[in-house]
Amino acid sequence: MSKRQLAMVMDLNKCIGCQTCTVACKTQWTNRNGREYMYWNNVETYPGDGYPKKWMELGGGFDAAGDLQPGIIPNIEADYGVPWDYNYESLAEQNLLSDKPEPGFRPDQSPTWGPNWDEDEGAGNFPMDNYFFYLPRICNHCSNPGCLSACPRDAIFKREEDGVVLVDLDRCQGYRYCIAGCPYKKIYFNPKISKSEKCILCFPRIEQGLPPACAQSCVGRIRFVGFLDDEESQVYKLVHKYKVALPLRPDYGTQPNVYYVPPTEAPPKFDENGKIIEGSNRIPIEELEKLFGPAVHDAIKTIKAEREKRKKTGKSELMDILIAYQHQDMFRLDHN
Ligand code: SF4
Ligand code: SF4
Repeated sequence: MSKRQLAMVMDLNKCIGCQTCTVACKTQWTNRNGREYMYWNNVETYPGDGYPKKWMELGGGFDAAGDLQPGIIPNIEADYGVPWDYNYESLAEQNLLSDKPEPGFRPDQSPTWGPNWDEDEGAGNFPMDNYFFYLPRICNHCSNPGCLSACPRDAIFKREEDGVVLVDLDRCQGYRYCIAGCPYKKIYFNPKISKSEKCILCFPRIEQGLPPACAQSCVGRIRFVGFLDDEESQVYKLVHKYKVALPLRPDYGTQPNVYYVPPTEAPPKFDENGKIIEGSNRIPIEELEKLFGPAVHDAIKTIKAEREKRKKTGKSELMDILIAYQHQDMFRLDHN
């Protein structure tokens, strides 16, 4: 156990799937040196197969007795997707206005999967009850990390001062047990150096009092960062005071430290005559329960009650926090 734990809260009602966070992370950390295929931050469409493909079905994590579960190591080409480029020259050469345009603008490889391969597909039938929402994901910097438990080299550790989970590259021998052990598949094998690598929560920025690049750049202001024991932090208020921010797949047993405010703002369904079904919600509550556990019912009740209170009285601390008037208020990172 670390002395203190940093956490991130993401409000899924506000993510617009713009991928600014993904680009901020990629350009900072993973666009070179064998990390090209990795996305330490990705934003996937839910429902969907996600990244890596069908990650929720690949095992890892702990059972109810606390035993580490076997897991599958995803294949780089088939499950993550190799980075591809486009033949820009052929596009420049061809006349797009001709009657027979050449099929020029094509990936230079033949990918079968990649991040956001099934973006915006979602589930249900348009226009009756189709739905999806965006699910941004980073390493959860878990309190009981499956990656750490699976490593026979003790190469993975949690920092005392903030609980950030890191790989000691001097100790890592590239066995990849950590990848099997992480149920979120948020630790990756770098084939160039034969070692495992993962999100470092931008700890060099954290140490300067700055939020991780994904949170700093978030266009939707959905990401809050702070210490879980800091009662002044908005993270504390969302997780502990109002209990509206919940960990993803708590049933995996790793005690994640990334929390999500569940989506409550889906439009109602239509019946076969195109009429609104009053009181209906396109996002099935069973799906939210699968993602966030039974606590999601109370979290949604609280959010709705506070929204009504805000409408009637003009006052609600919870709504003020979620609206995020001031970006800087979303982060409290001093190590004191
Ligand atoms: Fe380890 Fe996976 Fe948890 Fe990150 S999300 S700390 S890689 S078990
Ligand atoms: Fe969502 Fe923010 Fe990332 Fe845009 S930058 S995809 S709003 S988490």
